[in-house]
Amino acid sequence: MQTGISKERVPGACLIAALAVLLGVALSAPAQVIPSAQVLGRVVQEAHDQFKDLRDGATADYIPELAKVPSELFGVAIVTARGDVFAAGDVDYPFTIQSVSKPFTAALVMQQHGGAEIILDKIGVEPTGQRFNSILATQVIAQVSVNPLVNSGAIAAVSLVEAASAQERFDTILEYYGRLAAAPLSVIEDVYQSEAATNQRNRAHAYILFASDRIYSEPMEAVDVYTRQCSIGVTAKQLAVMGATLANNGVNPVTGMRVLDTRYVPKVLAIMLMAGFYDESGLWAYTAGLPAKTGVGGGIVAVVPGKMAIVGFSPRVNAAGNSVRAMKAIEYIADQLGLNMFGSGR
Ligand code: GLN
Repeated sequence: MQTGISKERVPGACLIAALAVLLGVALSAPAQVIPSAQVLGRVVQEAHDQFKDLRDGATADYIPELAKVPSELFGVAIVTARGDVFAAGDVDYPFTIQSVSKPFTAALVMQQHGGAEIILDKIGVEPTGQRFNSILATQVIAQVSVNPLVNSGAIAAVSLVEAASAQERFDTILEYYGRLAAAPLSVIEDVYQSEAATNQRNRAHAYILFASDRIYSEPMEAVDVYTRQCSIGVTAKQLAVMGATLANNGVNPVTGMRVLDTRYVPKVLAIMLMAGFYDESGLWAYTAGLPAKTGVGGGIVAVVPGKMAIVGFSPRVNAAGNSVRAMKAIEYIADQLGLNMFGSGR
């Protein structure tokens, strides 16, 4: 009985191995090819036109001021890893970043502390499978209850930002986001006041964390800085530059400045893939196959490593708090350009 490769087959095997190496080079090379300006301009416009009349979902109103944002707004933007911008619709309207902020503060914490382990050790990285503000999830055993992309873990991440005071902590976050966006940013004050007056649930999260030694600054201070962070205004274009900085291995492609060490980028993207859509993260991976982050302000940023960030912005969100038109637009572009990280399926 033949149990191994016969001698006659060895040269063939060598040839196959050599071909595999060549093929590997050939297959990996197009991974970094950014589609042409013509193609990117076209798909952005198509994504906007195709879903502009979609009316599913509703503007989030548990933060009263958010309900006042015009629900018809809709913008789609791509910024490439070279810093080229393609946009359609309401891409210059500043909206509150909300939970799309969360991966960027996790990035800041890794950068400041000089290691990605801090997120693993002090917060956690498992998807909760629960809503973004689930008290139930926060109460479950520490290792699987929290990650930096749900409210409790994001409040814990804020508490890990190194600063001498709450004001300095917020200023550090705001300045960091400005470097990611290549633009000075500021808080949309009405939304901040509105959320600060109604965020009892987030305060509950902070105290649950406090009771189990999982928050690292004064709890109410952390909630306030977190609420300010969520109220930072960004446009779809600015958010796409923030995402493009991740796509470009931590170097902002517009300013040329390094904002995040390359070694932390895969860590941030891994958490985004697993938990960026909370209890819809599995569905998102199944349909779009890209690391992305959503927020109840209606923004979503998806990152295509080495190539681009795709942003959709539209205030009407579904039951999980994810913008309906933004999801559709990003899914459309990912499909048209074969960007699914698990394979284009073609
Ligand atoms: N600031 C919001 C909150 O804490 C963010 C939630 C979200 O965007 N999903 O509830």
